[in-house]
Amino acid sequence: MAKVLPAPETFDLSIEVVIVGAGAAGLVSALAAYEAGRDVLVLERDSQPSGSTALSAGLIPAAGTRLQCALGITDTPQLFAADIQAKAKGENDPHLVDLLAAGAADTIDWLEGTHGLPFSLVDDFDYPGHSRRRMHGLPTRAGRELIDALRSRCEALSIDIVCEALVDTLYWDANTVSGIAVTRPDGGQERIGCSAVILACNGFGGNRELVRRHLPEIAEALWFGHDGNTGDAVLWGDEIGAETRHLGAYQGHGNVAHPHGILITWAVITQGGFQVNTDGVRFWNEAQGYSEAARAVLAQPDGVAWTIFDSRIAAIARQFADFREAEAQGAIITTDTLHDLEVATHLPSGCLSRELSRILPTGPDRFGRLFDTAALSPPFCAVRVTGALFHTQGGLSVNGCAQVLRKDGNVIPNLYAVGGAACGVSGASDAGYLSGNGLLSAVVLGRIAGEAAGGTGTRASGLDTPKNPLDTPGSLP
Ligand SMILES: Cc1cc2nc3c(=O)[nH]c(=O)nc-3n(C[C@H](O)[C@H](O)[C@H](O)COP(=O)(O)OP(=O)(O)OC[C@H]3O[C@@H](n4cnc5c(N)ncnc54)[C@H](O)[C@@H]3O)c2cc1C
Repeated sequence: MAKVLPAPETFDLSIEVVIVGAGAAGLVSALAAYEAGRDVLVLERDSQPSGSTALSAGLIPAAGTRLQCALGITDTPQLFAADIQAKAKGENDPHLVDLLAAGAADTIDWLEGTHGLPFSLVDDFDYPGHSRRRMHGLPTRAGRELIDALRSRCEALSIDIVCEALVDTLYWDANTVSGIAVTRPDGGQERIGCSAVILACNGFGGNRELVRRHLPEIAEALWFGHDGNTGDAVLWGDEIGAETRHLGAYQGHGNVAHPHGILITWAVITQGGFQVNTDGVRFWNEAQGYSEAARAVLAQPDGVAWTIFDSRIAAIARQFADFREAEAQGAIITTDTLHDLEVATHLPSGCLSRELSRILPTGPDRFGRLFDTAALSPPFCAVRVTGALFHTQGGLSVNGCAQVLRKDGNVIPNLYAVGGAACGVSGASDAGYLSGNGLLSAVVLGRIAGEAAGGTGTRASGLDTPKNPLDTPGSLP
């Protein structure tokens, strides 16, 4: 249970910057704080760094990267920010959107150039809502590779990552964090004093009670994120008067192979696939996005749907390790005719050809979807899917240095929140999530917090950017 206590008389050890959580946000923060010359300690409750980052596809959107330039793609942070705001219907803090959109390209270039992460651009399909091709990923398109690459880089730089270290206490006096306490699997405790704490412990998707309270409409769905993300950042935040925002926001996904529990890339939809329920009837405009697809699918009989596509699309989807795994586990059904597909999926005879015939070659269909890709052709594919909760998007409010804000508007000078611990840019519900908003906030805010906690933060934004606490004599323990 996350506790807040007054500072003890002594600590067992002291370090300049403590980072809670070794996902993408924590490890990127660590790299940035290390570069700023600080002693850094990353504390991770699990036996190895993984988090939701390892479960993800590891794709990070960024506008104006070297990789985009090399492919002749013209993109700008302004376009990117406009896309983020359009998806969230303008519900985000525009300064935070601008901060993340402006910092993304430089962060990808830095991870690639300085830290050697071999990013490439997803250049063979469009993600809904992104007006340019700007998703960057590592070769396997799997978050496991991203987290392993970040961990390896930290290890190469001798940045300490201590695992099996559950941070359960924040020491707090007079608007300042003075340290944390860690509980080890054998029950042993250590109190660690520090000058700055970066909360990189993601959101509250792994906390049933908080999910029921803030996200009742998805509370009974499959939880597809990391179990260890039990909302400690918002629980501590509540105790110390920190401001939280958009706790009803989340990313769902309506294309998880069922019962296999494997994420099926949304490229199968954007490339021309569609979803039918078990009556063989389409039920919504899939082009709206995969997050809101969770609720759309869960509202169907038995909370499942069939995603229908073809072998051309399967070839594109195969770049994702998850899709290959779904094929290996027999989740993807492929047949030469629609009739055979109906038989194999137990869908009513004739339903698929009827739905295909209702897709218009030009102009929006009955749900308002515009199909602007090649028509499906044999062999045809189907996968049975359900809706799931992937991660929460609300969290602690931060300023332009990723410092946590209090409800009274004041800044907590040496407490930072990054990644899923901070409020993201996905609006107030499930419909505002633009692909990649999760890792965008993890790596960009992570870098900003690491630099700021390290005393080198100079990010420009309309958000408050007070002086760094490490440069304020007497303000720290
Ligand atoms: C299936 C799936 C696919 C996704 N695909 C994408 C994608 O392609 N692109 C994208 O942008 N986003 C994607 N996301 C979202 C993305 O994974 C998250 O937004 C991102 O990983 C958040 O990073 P993080 O570092 O904040 O959290 P995490 O990676 O979850 O790391 C948080 C870490 O903190 C640790 N922790 C928690 N509490 C404590 C504590 N008290 N003490 C010590 N340690 C603690 C946890 O164990 C965990 O390791 C996906 C999510 C899922 C579930």
